[in-house]
Amino acid sequence: MAAPSGSEKPNLLLLVLDCVRAWDFPGGSSAVGPMPFTERLLRDSVYFPNAASVAHWTVPSHASMFTGLYPWEHGVHAKGLLKLAESGEGLGPLLRGAGYTTLSISANGLISSDLGLVHGMDRSAWGVSLFNRIGVADQPPQGSETEAHRLATAENTLRKRLASISYWTAYGLARAPAMWDFATRLAMRIRHPSFGARPRLAHWVEPTAARWIREAPRDRPVYCFVNLLDAHEPYLAEPDVVRTLRAWWSYARTRQDRLGWVSGAWKPTDPELVLLHELYRTMVRSLDQRIEGIVRAFQDSGRWENTTMILTGDHGQAFGEHDAMFHIVGVDEPELRVPMYVRYADRRDAGKVGHSWVSLIDVYPTLLREAGVVPPERPSHPIPLQDLLETPRAEPVFAMSDGLVHDADRQRTATARREAIDRLLVAGYDGEFKVIHDPVRGDLRAFHAHDDPAEAHDLWSSKGPELAPLAEGVREIGRRILAGPASAVPTDVEDRLRSWGYI
Ligand SMILES: [Zn+2]
Repeated sequence: MAAPSGSEKPNLLLLVLDCVRAWDFPGGSSAVGPMPFTERLLRDSVYFPNAASVAHWTVPSHASMFTGLYPWEHGVHAKGLLKLAESGEGLGPLLRGAGYTTLSISANGLISSDLGLVHGMDRSAWGVSLFNRIGVADQPPQGSETEAHRLATAENTLRKRLASISYWTAYGLARAPAMWDFATRLAMRIRHPSFGARPRLAHWVEPTAARWIREAPRDRPVYCFVNLLDAHEPYLAEPDVVRTLRAWWSYARTRQDRLGWVSGAWKPTDPELVLLHELYRTMVRSLDQRIEGIVRAFQDSGRWENTTMILTGDHGQAFGEHDAMFHIVGVDEPELRVPMYVRYADRRDAGKVGHSWVSLIDVYPTLLREAGVVPPERPSHPIPLQDLLETPRAEPVFAMSDGLVHDADRQRTATARREAIDRLLVAGYDGEFKVIHDPVRGDLRAFHAHDDPAEAHDLWSSKGPELAPLAEGVREIGRRILAGPASAVPTDVEDRLRSWGYI
């Protein structure tokens, strides 16, 4: 191993596992196993079992991690603007100002310059959907570098120009997963015969991390953000789950149809939900090797011993709970509860558990404190996780669902269905309780957050008076979002999101 390098300041690694919910991950109540590397990492970390995302989808959540602000404060959500405004107060610019080399490596193509999410990063790279599967094995398809693959650029341009065709292709493939599975495997076999049975998503991530960390100036610490997308739908027919011809036939008939679910045309059956959840858990398990691969990039450059790492998720994933699917809309537990590990460079408090509520906004002051940077004032009051191990936070944490993001979805959905799912919702957690508020209808629900994770028993009628301060908190946020400027999503951003088609 190379000699330790970097300054006195620890290197920082923020690893975000897209769509990974706390329950299914090591530390959670029904953790998928075995995940030996992650389980070891958990023992070296402080674990926060009560961590909540701020939203049910990628863009607002990442904007909150990078700024320490809630979505209604940074404005990046479907009822606001979908592009993060440039500011010197993001993690990237602040850490760069403190002497860090800043790297952003995201399998998820939304963490890109298009959406303002790589501002202040020295080097950034992000995925492009087809190229995440069949592209160059060790080069990022898109990014701040000139080496971005020209065919990936062409795919992106075509997708932007022909956004509706791209959207409908995604829609068609989601209705015929067997065709998509077959085509993907065939393309992978031809393109990357050495990868074996499982077509890995965004194989370029680990080699890019290894190369960029190696190339970073040795006298400066590194801040590296990584997003891994393996647990995102749609799911391939994983051999661990789809073992027989009969199982394959079930897989082939199970739509993974986002728009079909939105419009009400696809209501998954119980066996379909079980199958999709099993496929998801297989992908979560497969992340173990990938997490190890990212850590190895730090080890190989001699930086790991002096690295503080946060491992978390940007949001969870639903498989029929509360009739929700994937992470399309909602503030229910499967979509909001994420893993939260902090592995300190000096291994302090390893193996301890912090029971306070924590939020993705807390990532921001936690990393800044490790870097010796005093965080700017934030109205959201994020708290460094260092302070939340022994002392529970005194204020609630909040989250929102912004309803349907795509106008195309809205237009193709019948009124009754749209009214049921296209809702602005605000959730708040405090003490033992969670409150959910619909600011348009004005209703409130309350649940025991620890005893009733399924949110089956609404306690509002009996606990309402006791929960008045938390209820006032969610009402205030609801008023604020409703009073904000009407949605004004720039066309290029809308095109980008539509072309993504959630594939
Ligand atoms: Zn996401």
